[in-house]
Amino acid sequence: MPAKILVRYGEIALKGKNRGRFEQQLQNNLKEALKDFQATVEKMQGRFLVSGPKENRGKMVERLSKVFGVASLSTVEETGLDLEDIKMMALEMAGRVPTDEKEFKVETRRSNKQFPYPSPEVNKILGSHLLEHYPRLKVNLEQPAFTLSIEISHNRAFLYLDRVEGPGGLPVGITGRALLMLSGGIDSPVAGWLGMKRGLTVEALHFHSFPFTSRRSQEKAVDICRKLAAGSGSIRLHMINMASIQKELRAKCSEEMAIILLRRMMLRLAEKLSTDRGLQALITGESLGQVASQTLESIIVTEKVTDMLILRPLVGMDKKEIVNKAVELDTYDISIRPYEDCCTLFLPQNPVTRPKLDQVENQEAKLDQESLIKEAMASLETTLVKR
Ligand code: ATP
Ligand code: MG
Repeated sequence: MPAKILVRYGEIALKGKNRGRFEQQLQNNLKEALKDFQATVEKMQGRFLVSGPKENRGKMVERLSKVFGVASLSTVEETGLDLEDIKMMALEMAGRVPTDEKEFKVETRRSNKQFPYPSPEVNKILGSHLLEHYPRLKVNLEQPAFTLSIEISHNRAFLYLDRVEGPGGLPVGITGRALLMLSGGIDSPVAGWLGMKRGLTVEALHFHSFPFTSRRSQEKAVDICRKLAAGSGSIRLHMINMASIQKELRAKCSEEMAIILLRRMMLRLAEKLSTDRGLQALITGESLGQVASQTLESIIVTEKVTDMLILRPLVGMDKKEIVNKAVELDTYDISIRPYEDCCTLFLPQNPVTRPKLDQVENQEAKLDQESLIKEAMASLETTLVKR
Protein backbone atom coordinates (compact mmCIF):
# COMPACT_ATOMS: atom_id res chain seq x y z
CA MET A 1 0.00 0.00 0.00
CA PRO A 2 1.37 3.45 -0.87
CA ALA A 3 1.46 6.26 1.66
CA LYS A 4 -1.49 8.63 1.26
CA ILE A 5 -1.50 12.29 2.17
CA LEU A 6 -4.59 14.47 2.19
CA VAL A 7 -3.80 18.08 1.22
CA ARG A 8 -6.21 20.88 2.20
CA TYR A 9 -6.25 24.41 0.89
CA GLY A 10 -7.97 27.60 1.94
CA GLU A 11 -10.99 27.98 -0.26
CA ILE A 12 -12.93 30.79 1.35
CA ALA A 13 -11.92 33.56 -1.04
CA LEU A 14 -12.08 31.44 -4.18
CA LYS A 15 -14.96 31.85 -6.55
CA GLY A 16 -15.86 30.90 -10.11
CA LYS A 17 -13.04 30.91 -12.62
CA ASN A 18 -10.41 31.84 -10.03
CA ARG A 19 -11.05 28.66 -8.18
CA GLY A 20 -10.31 26.49 -11.21
CA ARG A 21 -7.07 28.37 -11.90
CA PHE A 22 -6.02 28.15 -8.26
CA GLU A 23 -6.65 24.41 -8.13
CA GLN A 24 -4.85 23.75 -11.40
CA GLN A 25 -1.80 25.77 -10.38
CA LEU A 26 -1.70 24.19 -6.95
CA GLN A 27 -1.93 20.70 -8.44
CA ASN A 28 0.98 21.50 -10.79
CA ASN A 29 3.04 22.89 -7.90
CA LEU A 30 2.32 19.87 -5.70
CA LYS A 31 3.45 17.55 -8.52
CA GLU A 32 6.58 19.64 -9.01
CA ALA A 33 7.38 19.45 -5.28
CA LEU A 34 7.13 15.65 -5.43
CA LYS A 35 8.85 15.06 -8.73
CA ASP A 36 11.75 13.14 -7.13
CA PHE A 37 9.32 10.62 -5.67
CA GLN A 38 7.03 8.43 -7.69
CA ALA A 39 3.92 10.16 -6.44
CA THR A 40 0.53 10.98 -7.91
CA VAL A 41 -1.66 13.97 -7.06
CA GLU A 42 -5.36 13.34 -7.42
CA LYS A 43 -7.96 16.08 -7.31
CA MET A 44 -10.91 15.48 -5.01
CA GLN A 45 -13.66 17.79 -3.86
CA GLY A 46 -11.90 20.66 -2.06
CA ARG A 47 -8.82 18.50 -1.45
CA PHE A 48 -5.91 16.78 -3.13
CA LEU A 49 -4.91 13.22 -2.40
CA VAL A 50 -1.23 12.41 -2.80
CA SER A 51 -0.12 8.78 -3.10
CA GLY A 52 3.54 7.82 -3.08
CA PRO A 53 6.08 5.29 -1.80
CA LYS A 54 5.76 4.58 1.93
CA GLU A 55 9.47 5.01 2.57
CA ASN A 56 9.24 8.62 1.36
CA ARG A 57 6.26 9.60 3.51
CA GLY A 58 8.22 11.89 5.84
CA LYS A 59 10.05 13.63 3.01
CA MET A 60 6.86 14.09 1.02
CA VAL A 61 5.10 15.68 4.00
CA GLU A 62 8.09 17.99 4.50
CA ARG A 63 8.05 19.07 0.85
CA LEU A 64 4.28 19.54 0.69
CA SER A 65 4.16 21.54 3.92
CA LYS A 66 6.19 24.30 2.21
CA VAL A 67 4.08 24.64 -0.93
CA PHE A 68 2.20 27.95 -1.00
CA GLY A 69 -1.55 27.51 -1.13
CA VAL A 70 -1.48 24.48 1.16
CA ALA A 71 -3.47 25.17 4.34
CA SER A 72 -2.72 21.85 6.05
CA LEU A 73 -2.10 18.20 5.37
CA SER A 74 -2.51 14.83 7.03
CA THR A 75 -1.13 11.37 6.39
CA VAL A 76 -4.23 9.21 6.08
CA GLU A 77 -5.41 5.63 5.93
CA GLU A 78 -8.05 4.91 3.31
CA THR A 79 -10.99 2.55 3.62
CA GLY A 80 -14.22 1.84 1.73
CA LEU A 81 -17.51 3.25 2.98
CA ASP A 82 -18.56 0.13 4.84
CA LEU A 83 -18.96 1.10 8.50
CA GLU A 84 -17.35 -2.16 9.65
CA ASP A 85 -14.22 -1.37 7.61
CA ILE A 86 -14.08 2.09 9.10
CA LYS A 87 -14.44 0.69 12.62
CA MET A 88 -11.66 -1.81 12.03
CA MET A 89 -9.31 0.88 10.73
CA ALA A 90 -10.19 3.14 13.67
CA LEU A 91 -9.19 0.36 16.08
CA GLU A 92 -5.94 -0.27 14.29
CA MET A 93 -5.03 3.40 14.33
CA ALA A 94 -5.95 3.96 17.97
CA GLY A 95 -3.77 0.93 18.74
CA ARG A 96 -0.75 2.85 17.35
CA VAL A 97 -1.17 5.77 19.76
CA PRO A 98 1.27 5.67 22.74
CA THR A 99 -0.47 4.08 25.69
CA ASP A 100 0.00 7.11 27.95
CA GLU A 101 -2.25 9.16 25.66
CA LYS A 102 -5.56 8.14 27.14
CA GLU A 103 -8.01 10.94 26.47
CA PHE A 104 -9.36 11.18 22.96
CA LYS A 105 -12.13 12.38 20.75
CA VAL A 106 -13.47 11.40 17.35
CA GLU A 107 -14.16 14.07 14.75
CA THR A 108 -16.05 13.33 11.55
CA ARG A 109 -16.50 15.41 8.42
CA ARG A 110 -18.97 14.07 5.91
CA SER A 111 -18.93 15.62 2.44
CA ASN A 112 -20.90 12.62 1.15
CA LYS A 113 -24.43 13.35 2.31
CA GLN A 114 -25.60 9.94 0.99
CA PHE A 115 -23.60 8.23 3.71
CA PRO A 116 -26.29 6.79 5.99
CA TYR A 117 -24.93 8.15 9.28
CA PRO A 118 -24.62 11.86 10.07
CA SER A 119 -21.27 13.00 11.50
CA PRO A 120 -22.25 13.09 15.23
CA GLU A 121 -23.57 9.58 14.85
CA VAL A 122 -20.27 8.37 13.34
CA ASN A 123 -18.41 10.02 16.23
CA LYS A 124 -20.54 8.11 18.74
CA ILE A 125 -20.29 4.77 16.99
CA LEU A 126 -16.52 4.93 16.61
CA GLY A 127 -16.00 6.43 20.07
CA SER A 128 -17.92 3.57 21.75
CA HIS A 129 -16.12 1.05 19.58
CA LEU A 130 -12.72 2.30 20.74
CA LEU A 131 -13.81 2.45 24.41
CA GLU A 132 -15.00 -1.15 24.19
CA HIS A 133 -11.70 -2.43 22.85
CA TYR A 134 -9.33 -0.22 24.78
CA PRO A 135 -10.59 0.12 28.37
CA ARG A 136 -7.66 2.49 29.16
CA LEU A 137 -9.15 5.16 26.88
CA LYS A 138 -11.45 7.96 27.97
CA VAL A 139 -13.39 10.52 25.96
CA ASN A 140 -12.38 14.17 26.40
CA LEU A 141 -13.95 16.57 23.93
CA GLU A 142 -12.21 19.70 25.27
CA GLN A 143 -8.58 18.68 25.64
CA PRO A 144 -7.99 15.28 24.10
CA ALA A 145 -4.47 13.83 23.99
CA PHE A 146 -5.27 12.63 20.49
CA THR A 147 -8.02 13.12 17.95
CA LEU A 148 -9.07 10.46 15.48
CA SER A 149 -10.47 12.26 12.45
CA ILE A 150 -12.57 10.77 9.70
CA GLU A 151 -13.46 12.30 6.36
CA ILE A 152 -16.21 10.62 4.42
CA SER A 153 -16.06 11.36 0.70
CA HIS A 154 -18.32 10.06 -2.06
CA ASN A 155 -16.56 6.72 -2.57
CA ARG A 156 -14.21 6.21 0.37
CA ALA A 157 -13.27 7.28 3.86
CA PHE A 158 -10.00 8.68 5.22
CA LEU A 159 -8.84 8.36 8.81
CA TYR A 160 -5.99 10.28 10.36
CA LEU A 161 -4.37 11.26 13.63
CA ASP A 162 -2.08 14.12 12.66
CA ARG A 163 -2.31 17.49 10.97
CA VAL A 164 0.63 19.56 9.70
CA GLU A 165 0.10 23.25 8.92
CA GLY A 166 1.09 24.55 5.49
CA PRO A 167 2.13 28.13 4.69
CA GLY A 168 -1.30 29.10 3.31
CA GLY A 169 -1.37 31.87 0.70
CA LEU A 170 -1.74 31.42 -3.04
CA PRO A 171 0.04 28.95 -5.32
CA VAL A 172 3.21 30.42 -6.84
CA GLY A 173 2.67 31.44 -10.44
CA ILE A 174 -0.90 32.57 -10.15
CA THR A 175 -0.64 36.32 -9.61
CA GLY A 176 2.31 37.33 -11.80
CA ARG A 177 6.08 37.61 -11.97
CA ALA A 178 8.30 39.86 -9.87
CA LEU A 179 11.96 40.66 -9.28
CA LEU A 180 13.17 40.45 -5.70
CA MET A 181 16.06 42.78 -4.90
CA LEU A 182 18.06 40.46 -2.72
CA SER A 183 20.88 41.83 -0.57
CA GLY A 184 22.78 39.68 1.89
CA GLY A 185 20.72 41.07 4.75
CA ILE A 186 17.95 39.69 6.93
CA ASP A 187 15.03 41.56 5.41
CA SER A 188 14.94 40.94 1.68
CA PRO A 189 14.63 37.12 1.91
CA VAL A 190 11.57 37.58 4.12
CA ALA A 191 10.13 40.08 1.63
CA GLY A 192 10.67 37.58 -1.19
CA TRP A 193 8.98 34.82 0.76
CA LEU A 194 5.96 37.05 1.40
CA GLY A 195 5.73 37.90 -2.30
CA MET A 196 5.81 34.22 -3.17
CA LYS A 197 3.17 33.58 -0.55
CA ARG A 198 0.85 35.86 -2.50
CA GLY A 199 1.31 33.77 -5.63
CA LEU A 200 4.16 35.60 -7.37
CA THR A 201 6.81 33.82 -9.37
CA VAL A 202 9.95 35.44 -8.02
CA GLU A 203 13.33 35.92 -9.67
CA ALA A 204 16.10 37.46 -7.56
CA LEU A 205 18.68 40.13 -8.30
CA HIS A 206 21.78 40.51 -6.18
CA PHE A 207 24.23 43.39 -6.59
CA HIS A 208 27.81 42.73 -5.57
CA SER A 209 31.03 44.69 -5.89
CA PHE A 210 33.61 42.08 -6.72
CA PRO A 211 36.60 42.43 -6.16
CA PHE A 212 35.76 44.99 -3.42
CA THR A 213 33.37 42.46 -1.95
CA SER A 214 34.45 38.83 -1.69
CA ARG A 215 32.86 35.91 -3.52
CA ARG A 216 31.34 35.00 -0.17
CA SER A 217 28.69 37.69 -0.56
CA GLN A 218 27.55 36.05 -3.79
CA GLU A 219 27.54 32.61 -2.14
CA LYS A 220 25.24 34.06 0.50
CA ALA A 221 22.73 35.08 -2.16
CA VAL A 222 22.84 31.59 -3.67
CA ASP A 223 22.35 29.95 -0.25
CA ILE A 224 19.41 32.23 0.54
CA CYS A 225 17.78 31.45 -2.80
CA ARG A 226 18.14 27.75 -2.07
CA LYS A 227 16.11 28.22 1.13
CA LEU A 228 13.47 30.31 -0.64
CA ALA A 229 13.24 27.69 -3.37
CA ALA A 230 11.67 25.31 -0.82
CA GLY A 231 8.42 27.13 -1.58
CA SER A 232 8.70 27.20 -5.36
CA GLY A 233 11.09 24.48 -6.51
CA SER A 234 13.65 26.86 -7.94
CA ILE A 235 14.61 30.53 -8.12
CA ARG A 236 16.40 32.23 -10.96
CA LEU A 237 19.16 34.35 -9.44
CA HIS A 238 20.74 37.24 -11.32
CA MET A 239 23.92 38.97 -10.20
CA ILE A 240 25.21 42.33 -11.34
CA ASN A 241 28.57 43.87 -10.52
CA MET A 242 28.35 47.43 -9.15
CA ALA A 243 32.10 47.96 -8.72
CA SER A 244 32.54 50.44 -11.58
CA ILE A 245 29.48 52.40 -10.58
CA GLN A 246 30.67 52.62 -6.99
CA LYS A 247 34.10 53.77 -8.11
CA GLU A 248 32.57 56.50 -10.25
CA LEU A 249 30.25 57.63 -7.47
CA ARG A 250 33.19 57.90 -5.11
CA ALA A 251 35.32 59.77 -7.59
CA LYS A 252 32.72 62.24 -8.80
CA CYS A 253 29.82 62.64 -6.38
CA SER A 254 29.17 64.02 -2.94
CA GLU A 255 29.94 61.43 -0.31
CA GLU A 256 26.88 61.97 1.86
CA MET A 257 24.61 61.20 -1.10
CA ALA A 258 26.46 58.01 -2.08
CA ILE A 259 23.80 55.65 -0.79
CA ILE A 260 20.84 57.27 -2.45
CA LEU A 261 22.77 57.57 -5.72
CA LEU A 262 23.72 53.91 -5.53
CA ARG A 263 20.12 52.95 -4.77
CA ARG A 264 18.85 54.86 -7.78
CA MET A 265 21.36 53.07 -10.01
CA MET A 266 20.23 49.74 -8.57
CA LEU A 267 16.62 50.54 -9.39
CA ARG A 268 17.47 51.54 -12.95
CA LEU A 269 19.29 48.24 -13.43
CA ALA A 270 16.45 46.29 -11.83
CA GLU A 271 13.99 47.93 -14.18
CA LYS A 272 16.15 47.12 -17.19
CA LEU A 273 16.44 43.47 -16.16
CA SER A 274 12.69 43.28 -15.47
CA THR A 275 11.90 44.53 -18.95
CA ASP A 276 14.25 41.95 -20.48
CA ARG A 277 12.76 39.13 -18.38
CA GLY A 278 9.11 40.16 -18.55
CA LEU A 279 8.85 40.79 -14.82
CA GLN A 280 6.02 43.06 -13.75
CA ALA A 281 7.00 44.40 -10.33
CA LEU A 282 9.92 44.79 -7.94
CA ILE A 283 10.04 43.53 -4.36
CA THR A 284 12.35 45.06 -1.77
CA GLY A 285 13.02 44.41 1.90
CA GLU A 286 12.57 48.06 2.77
CA SER A 287 10.57 49.02 5.80
CA LEU A 288 10.03 52.46 7.16
CA GLY A 289 12.42 54.38 9.33
CA GLN A 290 15.06 51.77 10.06
CA VAL A 291 18.04 53.56 8.53
CA ALA A 292 18.90 56.77 6.67
CA SER A 293 18.09 55.22 3.30
CA GLN A 294 14.64 54.26 4.54
CA THR A 295 13.16 57.56 5.60
CA LEU A 296 10.05 58.36 3.64
CA GLU A 297 11.93 61.18 1.86
CA SER A 298 14.75 58.84 0.79
CA ILE A 299 12.35 56.24 -0.51
CA ILE A 300 10.39 58.83 -2.47
CA VAL A 301 13.49 60.30 -4.11
CA THR A 302 14.92 56.82 -4.80
CA GLU A 303 11.87 55.42 -6.52
CA LYS A 304 11.49 58.49 -8.79
CA VAL A 305 13.78 56.76 -11.31
CA THR A 306 11.23 54.08 -12.21
CA ASP A 307 7.55 53.76 -13.05
CA MET A 308 7.57 50.14 -11.99
CA LEU A 309 5.38 48.99 -9.15
CA ILE A 310 7.57 48.41 -6.08
CA LEU A 311 6.17 46.02 -3.50
CA ARG A 312 7.46 46.41 0.04
CA PRO A 313 5.88 43.57 1.98
CA LEU A 314 7.75 44.40 5.22
CA VAL A 315 6.55 47.97 5.52
CA GLY A 316 4.27 47.24 8.47
CA MET A 317 6.51 44.80 10.29
CA ASP A 318 8.77 45.39 13.31
CA LYS A 319 12.38 44.23 13.15
CA LYS A 320 11.58 41.54 15.68
CA GLU A 321 8.78 40.10 13.57
CA ILE A 322 11.06 40.10 10.52
CA VAL A 323 13.82 38.33 12.43
CA ASN A 324 11.40 35.72 13.75
CA LYS A 325 10.21 35.02 10.24
CA ALA A 326 13.79 34.78 8.94
CA VAL A 327 14.58 32.24 11.66
CA GLU A 328 11.50 30.24 10.70
CA LEU A 329 12.51 30.29 7.02
CA ASP A 330 16.06 29.25 7.94
CA THR A 331 17.56 32.25 6.14
CA TYR A 332 18.60 34.08 9.32
CA ASP A 333 21.83 32.19 9.93
CA ILE A 334 22.90 32.80 6.33
CA SER A 335 22.05 36.50 6.51
CA ILE A 336 24.09 37.12 9.65
CA ARG A 337 27.28 35.59 8.22
CA PRO A 338 29.74 38.44 8.48
CA TYR A 339 30.45 39.16 4.84
CA GLU A 340 30.34 42.66 3.43
CA ASP A 341 27.45 43.87 1.31
CA CYS A 342 28.11 46.30 -1.53
CA CYS A 343 25.97 48.92 0.23
CA THR A 344 28.26 48.93 3.25
CA LEU A 345 31.27 49.71 1.06
CA PHE A 346 32.37 53.34 1.07
CA LEU A 347 29.64 54.02 3.60
CA PRO A 348 29.47 57.76 4.24
CA GLN A 349 29.94 59.06 7.80
CA ASN A 350 26.87 61.26 7.59
CA PRO A 351 24.41 60.12 4.95
CA VAL A 352 21.67 62.61 4.11
CA THR A 353 18.38 61.51 5.56
CA ARG A 354 16.15 64.03 3.77
CA PRO A 355 17.54 64.23 0.23
CA LYS A 356 16.16 66.76 -2.26
CA LEU A 357 15.45 65.50 -5.74
CA ASP A 358 17.15 68.42 -7.56
CA GLN A 359 20.34 68.01 -5.53
CA VAL A 360 20.41 64.31 -6.28
CA GLU A 361 19.89 64.96 -9.97
CA ASN A 362 22.71 67.53 -9.95
CA GLN A 363 25.04 64.85 -8.65
CA GLU A 364 23.89 62.38 -11.28
CA ALA A 365 24.57 64.91 -14.05
CA LYS A 366 28.28 64.35 -13.35
CA LEU A 367 28.01 60.70 -14.39
CA ASP A 368 27.91 59.03 -17.77
CA GLN A 369 24.90 57.02 -16.73
CA GLU A 370 24.25 55.29 -19.99
CA SER A 371 27.67 53.71 -20.27
CA LEU A 372 27.74 52.82 -16.56
CA ILE A 373 24.44 50.98 -16.94
CA LYS A 374 25.64 49.28 -20.07
CA GLU A 375 28.82 48.12 -18.38
CA ALA A 376 26.94 46.87 -15.32
CA MET A 377 24.41 44.98 -17.47
CA ALA A 378 27.31 43.33 -19.29
CA SER A 379 28.40 41.79 -15.96
CA LEU A 380 25.05 40.03 -15.56
CA GLU A 381 25.33 36.39 -14.51
CA THR A 382 22.30 34.17 -14.05
CA THR A 383 21.92 30.81 -12.32
CA LEU A 384 18.93 28.66 -11.58
CA VAL A 385 19.02 27.75 -7.89
CA LYS A 386 17.05 24.63 -7.01
CA ARG A 387 15.60 23.62 -3.66
P1 ATP B 1 18.20 43.85 3.96
O1 ATP B 1 18.19 43.22 5.34
O2 ATP B 1 17.27 43.18 3.01
O3 ATP B 1 19.59 44.05 3.44
P2 ATP B 1 18.18 46.44 5.06
O4 ATP B 1 17.29 46.66 6.22
O5 ATP B 1 19.64 46.22 5.27
O6 ATP B 1 17.58 45.29 4.17
P3 ATP B 1 18.88 48.39 3.09
O7 ATP B 1 20.29 48.00 3.16
O8 ATP B 1 18.48 49.82 3.22
O9 ATP B 1 17.96 47.69 4.13
O10 ATP B 1 18.30 47.83 1.73
C1 ATP B 1 16.94 48.01 1.43
C2 ATP B 1 16.56 47.06 0.31
O11 ATP B 1 17.29 47.38 -0.88
C3 ATP B 1 16.94 45.63 0.59
O12 ATP B 1 15.97 44.99 1.40
C4 ATP B 1 16.98 45.06 -0.80
O13 ATP B 1 15.69 44.79 -1.29
C5 ATP B 1 17.60 46.21 -1.60
N1 ATP B 1 19.07 46.02 -1.64
C6 ATP B 1 19.99 46.56 -0.84
N2 ATP B 1 21.23 46.10 -1.15
C7 ATP B 1 21.09 45.27 -2.18
C8 ATP B 1 21.99 44.47 -2.97
N3 ATP B 1 23.29 44.43 -2.70
N4 ATP B 1 21.47 43.71 -3.96
C9 ATP B 1 20.15 43.73 -4.21
N5 ATP B 1 19.25 44.44 -3.51
C10 ATP B 1 19.72 45.20 -2.51
MG1 MG C 1 21.02 45.48 3.93
